[in-house]
Amino acid sequence: MEALARERFSIPNDVIYLDGNSLGALPRATPERLRALMREEWRSDLIASWNKHGWIDLPMSIAARLAPIVNAKPAELLIADSTSVSLFKLLAAAARARSGRKTILTQRRNFPTDLYVAQGLCDMLGLTLRAVDADAVRDSIDDDVAVVSLTHVDYRSAAVHEMAAINRASRDAGALTCWDLSHSAGAIEVDLAGTECDLAVGCGYKYLNGGPGAPAFIFVAERLLETMHPPLQGWMGHAQPFAFEDGYQPAPGIARFLTGTPSILAIAALDCGLATFDGIAMADVAARSRGLSQAFIDAVEARCGDAVSLASPGDPAARGSHVCFAHPHGYAVMQALIARKVIGDFRAPDLMRFGFAPLYNDEGDVLRAAEILGEILDSRAWDDPRFHARAKVT
Ligand SMILES: *Cc1c(COP(=O)(O)O)cnc(C)c1O
Repeated sequence: MEALARERFSIPNDVIYLDGNSLGALPRATPERLRALMREEWRSDLIASWNKHGWIDLPMSIAARLAPIVNAKPAELLIADSTSVSLFKLLAAAARARSGRKTILTQRRNFPTDLYVAQGLCDMLGLTLRAVDADAVRDSIDDDVAVVSLTHVDYRSAAVHEMAAINRASRDAGALTCWDLSHSAGAIEVDLAGTECDLAVGCGYKYLNGGPGAPAFIFVAERLLETMHPPLQGWMGHAQPFAFEDGYQPAPGIARFLTGTPSILAIAALDCGLATFDGIAMADVAARSRGLSQAFIDAVEARCGDAVSLASPGDPAARGSHVCFAHPHGYAVMQALIARKVIGDFRAPDLMRFGFAPLYNDEGDVLRAAEILGEILDSRAWDDPRFHARAKVT
């Protein structure tokens, strides 16, 4: 199993990088694109660049590259802010669009930012955040629910929600649904049009390779756009920002979800990240993702036996593009792996997480990582004080 586009990335030769689900690798094109943007646009044309180089439209125009990755229309997508801020915007807009309903429904152990943002919004608006077990979400959608807020692929286990079925149940109950696609977009098939999604947000720096802290994306279904009122009424989301009117009028399309001036360098870097998918079918990406994660599970189970236990669904169809194995000293084992240049990450309390980016990971990466994990467990190389010291970012 070859990688789909390894030549589009710049990755150190001696590294097995299995953390593209946390920070995507550097696209080969990014450094030169940023250098050119600074020299030939910012330096030479200064403020004229907003018009001359189309900077002002970048949050909408580069989203067109994202459209095939999540199967949505370009006019439904916008690049802006962080995932957390984007989520706040959409949940607040959804609560307003369903005013009278008093509940935001989510799942327990959702990604923390998703829970914190929803809880803060509920506190502000006098709503209730109801968190239920993942498999109870669908049956918990009732006529008090304004919006169902879920992460499509669980950041720990990689379990995938049934997007189409939840969208349907939510719509039948008169609620809206907002998906966090941070661990899905660019790794598995996401069909926003086919599953009739209402709202979604996602992360630019994971499988989309936009660089550390890259801006996020916002999706609002075209049929809802005119009824969704942006809660952060910034000038960039105004119908005519340069009319400088006192009163706020939302822009007619997705641009209403812009707030302030877009970060052009960051968006250009994200554009290079999205361009790594050019010409590649998401069905191929998804098939490769399942193949790589399954090959890893098989190799680890064969090499390591009971020393680690799988904490992700065994069925590839029910799994995103990463795999978690639990080990009581998972943190130290992961540090020992990183010292041997197999880079994954750790999620408390005991999960070693390995992400498979189909564009640049191949079967050789997977087999070698499983072998090195086996060697570390056999030799107890992880049982060394330097591997136990916890860093701020795990
Ligand atoms: C990574 C991730 C985020 C990131 O949010 P930021 O605001 O970009 O820090 C949000 N939600 C989920 C589910 C994630 O996996």
